[in-house]
Amino acid sequence: MKTPTLETLSSIHTDGSRKFIHPADVKGRFTHLRRLAGALLLLIYIALPWIPVNGYPAVFLDVQERRFHFMGLTLATQDLWVGFFLITGLAFSLFYITALFGRLWCGWTCPYTVFLEHVYRRIERLIDGDATARRRLEDAPWSAGKVTKRLLKHGLFVLVSALIAHIFLSYFVSIKKLYEMMKGPPTEHFLAFGIVSFLTGALYFSFSWFREQFCIILCPYGRLQSALTDDHSIVIGYDKSRGEPRGKAGSTTGSCIDCRRCVQVCPTGIDIRNGMQLECIGCAACVDACDDIMTKLKRPTGLVRYDSYVGLKGGRTKVIRPRTIFYTFMLLAGVAAFAFASTRISALRASAVRMIGAPFYVADDIVRNQFLVRVINKRNEPSTYRLELVGAAPAGLKATGLDQLLEVPAMGEEQKTLVLSLPEKAFEKSFRLQVKVTDTRRGDSMTTRVMEFLGPDPRLRSHAPLDPKAFLQ
Ligand code: SF4
Ligand code: SF4
Repeated sequence: MKTPTLETLSSIHTDGSRKFIHPADVKGRFTHLRRLAGALLLLIYIALPWIPVNGYPAVFLDVQERRFHFMGLTLATQDLWVGFFLITGLAFSLFYITALFGRLWCGWTCPYTVFLEHVYRRIERLIDGDATARRRLEDAPWSAGKVTKRLLKHGLFVLVSALIAHIFLSYFVSIKKLYEMMKGPPTEHFLAFGIVSFLTGALYFSFSWFREQFCIILCPYGRLQSALTDDHSIVIGYDKSRGEPRGKAGSTTGSCIDCRRCVQVCPTGIDIRNGMQLECIGCAACVDACDDIMTKLKRPTGLVRYDSYVGLKGGRTKVIRPRTIFYTFMLLAGVAAFAFASTRISALRASAVRMIGAPFYVADDIVRNQFLVRVINKRNEPSTYRLELVGAAPAGLKATGLDQLLEVPAMGEEQKTLVLSLPEKAFEKSFRLQVKVTDTRRGDSMTTRVMEFLGPDPRLRSHAPLDPKAFLQ
């Protein structure tokens, strides 16, 4: 195995072809904790579509009905502006965590790492054995044993990919609907079948072949690291002052015995002793590997450790610094904005818009304005609403369409035509009104935006000759 350098990628041969990395197994406290975190995250991914909250799956992005359910909070498409605060809040959380702890997200919680390390690589280890056995098998000529192992491994990879893809789809169609779809022929739900097939293929390709190349070449977050971290961010690093000069135990004063265990366990094939590199996903496998060696040598652990660049050089790591203050401020602003925005989401939405056509009609000395009132019920049960006009209106205004209660089914919407009529003589100038919609049982209400009642200019009403001066006033 060639020693990785800063000039070359360990996953590419000198002729440019792909070189598979077979990270060695490692044991230790971080590996153990990472496994627990991975198992928990996988459990959450699998369980969320199954857990009912307020009659819907805990996370259900119902694209067909344009309703989005998050832990009991239901958002209609009109509420999606709240998502802006959610997404920016999550982005700033990630910036914040990165400024403090480097690529903690990548190594511990990124779905790509979780699936690769805790699902696919575990299957591979189970079938092909440890790193040495895997390398030997890769170089071995094709035989019945190799074919069997390859078929078994790739068969399981396809199966797991299909499973992950189906669970992913259930976030959009619900488990119940997914099960119904699975019972029917693909031709009945071709789009869903196409999405799952594509996802299965993409997952299989990514985790059986592309692997760490995604983190090294494609992931934009990895590229942002140098902008988000500074010398005080906690990363995984090698204590050069203690490790160097490296050499066989007893032959030098440095602690590093150049055993290369930290390189062998690295899933991206780098040598952390070369310093912080873009390929490092912060998985801490090299920390456990080196600690294990140091323990065996009865030397203090932590030659490779979580520390800041300043800390590795013997300085004091600062937690409070301009970058973290700024990210904290932005994070808190995002949380406050999201919390405020969430309070603006109600279980009822109402709107009133002028109907298509002329803004008003005059017939038999009556001025008519027509509006379309739309009521959306975001509750999981049917509701009945009372509709009433609010605002100062001239005497003689009649409203047709609001006299009856409006029944709206659970998570449904209804529309009503509202016709406002006013004797032409009573119309002096345009005026503004709103429709107040009240849930008859619960009492919660919402008032629509203002509707403007329009009519003919009263100055045109007289049949006397027009005085142009009147229009210039
Ligand atoms: S595992 Fe530790 S001792 Fe071995 S090469 Fe890496 S840094 Fe040196
Ligand atoms: S250098 Fe260490 S922390 Fe970084 S990816 Fe390799 S093993 Fe993981």
